Amino acid sequence: MSFESEPSSSLLPVSDYLTDPELEGFVWDREGEETSEAWLAPVREAGLDHRKHKVFHHANKEYTTPPLPFRHDGELGQSGSTIVYRVRAPKGYNYRRPLALKVIVCKDVVSSRPPGPNSEARRLALQEVQNMAAIRHPHIVVYVASYEEYCLQTRKVETTRRSPRPGRREVFHVNQQVINKHILGIAMYPPAQCNLQTFMLECLASSRNPSQKSNGSQGLSQGLSQVEEDPEHAWWKLPFLHTYFGCLAQAVAYLHRSSVRIRHKDIKPENVVIDDFGMPVLTDFGLSTHFETGHHSDGPTAKTLKYADPEAMQGIRRDERSDIFSLGCVYLEMATVIIGRSPSFAEARLSAAVDQPAGLFKYSEALDGLDGYIAELVRIVEDELARTTDASRQASLRAIVVVLPTIGKMMHPDFTRRPYAQELYPLFRHLSEVPGTPGLCPTCEEERQTGRFTPKSGSQRSGRGSPTMTTGIAAAGASVSKRRTWHIACRSWGTARIVVVAG
Ligand SMILES: [Zn+2]
Repeated sequence: MSFESEPSSSLLPVSDYLTDPELEGFVWDREGEETSEAWLAPVREAGLDHRKHKVFHHANKEYTTPPLPFRHDGELGQSGSTIVYRVRAPKGYNYRRPLALKVIVCKDVVSSRPPGPNSEARRLALQEVQNMAAIRHPHIVVYVASYEEYCLQTRKVETTRRSPRPGRREVFHVNQQVINKHILGIAMYPPAQCNLQTFMLECLASSRNPSQKSNGSQGLSQGLSQVEEDPEHAWWKLPFLHTYFGCLAQAVAYLHRSSVRIRHKDIKPENVVIDDFGMPVLTDFGLSTHFETGHHSDGPTAKTLKYADPEAMQGIRRDERSDIFSLGCVYLEMATVIIGRSPSFAEARLSAAVDQPAGLFKYSEALDGLDGYIAELVRIVEDELARTTDASRQASLRAIVVVLPTIGKMMHPDFTRRPYAQELYPLFRHLSEVPGTPGLCPTCEEERQTGRFTPKSGSQRSGRGSPTMTTGIAAAGASVSKRRTWHIACRSWGTARIVVVAG
């Protein structure tokens, strides 16, 4: 059996999208463009290309729809003051590919009002948009364009002035223009909704399936109440999870390169999306954090702290290895899932040792229990190895045990003892070679061998939009009659474009 992508899809793997002419060809029209220097100067100072970042305003009309060529095509998710829409251009535009449009309502953290053109929050956010615009990696979300839209409202403001009559003041009204709403929109590729957190739960669902195809472990139950997916359609997910260690390591190593030098600062399962080709894509560069107070219990901050490095929690010096701590926490949950437990099993075990209120778990405060937890995972593996006769399951368990000490080092309380991102890929690469997994990721392998990822040129690109992890599985020659499309019903995701070719 093998995988290939469904033909005629307007979606491409990120590695192919990076060379798609549509990406570089995107240019905003000039209609209604902002002319006020107060608004334009910070855009220039951030280094943003005005053809890719448009500022415009209107009077007395609040944001309802995004500017053309973006048109809402469903909602992908929301958090705090941020909503992510799936958008696509209406007929008549050159932009065919659907995109994710992240819309942030900009508010000053203290006053909850729009922060204004010269605010520090806006300056920092524009800088992050510029950082994002410079990133080109097959496992990192691709910036396509951005815009700011603000609404000016005229208000009558009551004021007083000294009256000509001694000792009296007179009241009068003036018309004042205020910024009523300020929106920052960022159009990105791919428009994926399934994130790693959902994906990991669905991996467990797949192993409930009695007719599972490979690598599923027995007797999984924890966390499954959160998953409604038909396990028949999820069996491919657990094998794919093995390859995500290497792919995410390469994404973070790219960000930390001396030529890029970007710290993500918010690595967590919700910030890794899984695209329609089953590929992990690191997203969300913390843009919203400049506009959020963090004081709302239902906001994103409480969740973010769960994976935050101890340095951030203590407010001490950090370097890029702060990201390694958060990535280590994510890896620990991925390893827990491969071993056959829910990702929340890690939290349940580690929080039992420390006195943390429910829902406020932070890995950084539970590190005393980490060695004990890893030892427990090893015992679970040994128990299952003694019982299972499934050769690919045995290979998977043996491969995951090997990486547990590295994950422990990534979560070391002292950041100077953690490995650098550049060291990680070789330490996790063998997981992609476990029988039953999709195999080594070609773009990550190319990066390993050449030190960089070279996007394929248009002529080399497969017309059917090849998924990136299908090497060695010759799908091209399979007859159509043997092809079977799996409508992978990721609850909030729609249909995945993975075709299984029997034979
Ligand atoms: Zn990869």
